Amino acid sequence: MMPCSYLCPMSKPLILVTNDDGIVAPGIRALVEVAAQFGEIIVVAPDSPQSGQGHAITIHDPLRLRQVDVFEGIQAWECSGTPVDCVKLAKHVLLKDRKIDLCLSGINHGSNSSINILYSGTMSAAMEAALEGIDSIGFSLLDFSFNADFSGAKHWASKIVSYALEHPFRHGHLLNVNIPKLPAAEIKGIRVCRQCEGRWIEEFVEGKDPSGRPYYWLTGRFVKQDEGEDTDEWALEHGYISVVPSMHDLTNYQAIPELVNNGLTTR
Ligand code: MN
Repeated sequence: MMPCSYLCPMSKPLILVTNDDGIVAPGIRALVEVAAQFGEIIVVAPDSPQSGQGHAITIHDPLRLRQVDVFEGIQAWECSGTPVDCVKLAKHVLLKDRKIDLCLSGINHGSNSSINILYSGTMSAAMEAALEGIDSIGFSLLDFSFNADFSGAKHWASKIVSYALEHPFRHGHLLNVNIPKLPAAEIKGIRVCRQCEGRWIEEFVEGKDPSGRPYYWLTGRFVKQDEGEDTDEWALEHGYISVVPSMHDLTNYQAIPELVNNGLTTR
């Protein structure tokens, strides 16, 4: 007998949907609509905006989960914690006796290409699921606007979710997907990429609060330091969706021999 695939009508895949912009953001609604074509959806998402929280977890405060009726016919919980807290609670509390087939995070309002993956709550939520061995995809649209048009992103996200359900990942469990701010028909296609080298040139705007104390407000600009044509930034600049297979291991393997050869290892 043939094994039943993820797409077998008798066994709908269980898909966890989360984000960092909060459960009422239009981007997560777009992603829920995409995911609902493919399986049973459980949404666990922050009750407030959590962009830039990276892999933060809550350890000194209690966490709350509240079931909410935000998406018609879909079970959804808002969580008082960070995006990573949402995934941990989904995996170990709400769905502790079930196998999660896929985790989708986003669709983020704004880019998570290049170095932004480090700061991103969207990508950290997806990474947390990947750490649990769950195939996981973070989606981001290059448009910060609350009223961003997600129609193109939805069209292409459907293709990528379909691919992921048909082809379980064998090398790691995480994809970082960024989508250019273009109508669906103007998006040229999908490129599998590496993460572009780049960084933020930080600037702090300084001001005074009403009581006269100084405050500092982080701003800055992204600087690309990599002209490769195989990067996520290149793909996005040229009208393609970038797909970067990503991982949690931050070891700099090339530096190990240098440190060992220079005598840092003790015997
Ligand atoms: Mn965000």
